[in-house]
Amino acid sequence: MPYDENGIFAAIIRKEIPAKIVHETDNVLAFEDINPKAPNHILIVPKLQIETVNDLQDDHAQIIGEMVLAARDIAAEIGVAEKGYRLVINTNADAGQEIFHLHMHFFAGRKMTWPPG
Ligand code: 5GP
Repeated sequence: MPYDENGIFAAIIRKEIPAKIVHETDNVLAFEDINPKAPNHILIVPKLQIETVNDLQDDHAQIIGEMVLAARDIAAEIGVAEKGYRLVINTNADAGQEIFHLHMHFFAGRKMTWPPG
């Protein structure tokens, strides 16, 4: 599937539509999910146009690393690092991916169950 430059996350990254931004670096943007599934539900996205994990190239390793480091920093900033949090990347239909701009979900603020549904 080709990248959709008119997609919602592309517009959020360009700051054309509003989002509650909680963290930003040169390469990564993090903002609150519009339909939160936990008291803290944040989406961490690369500014690069990447649809899914399947579309990652070897030279995207730095970006993926920066997404996880952003999660670490957000956990510290919102005070959940010690209690815990969960990071999830849904890929394609079986995982329920709805937005085809790579994103990592950051969940915290409640006890999580396992296995996930
Ligand atoms: P996926 O199912 O693709 O892994 O997750 C997409 C997430 O994006 C969902 O949790 C959904 O609530 C969130 N989302 C969809 N549209 C918007 C939007 O316009 N703004 C924000 N902040 N989140 C959105």
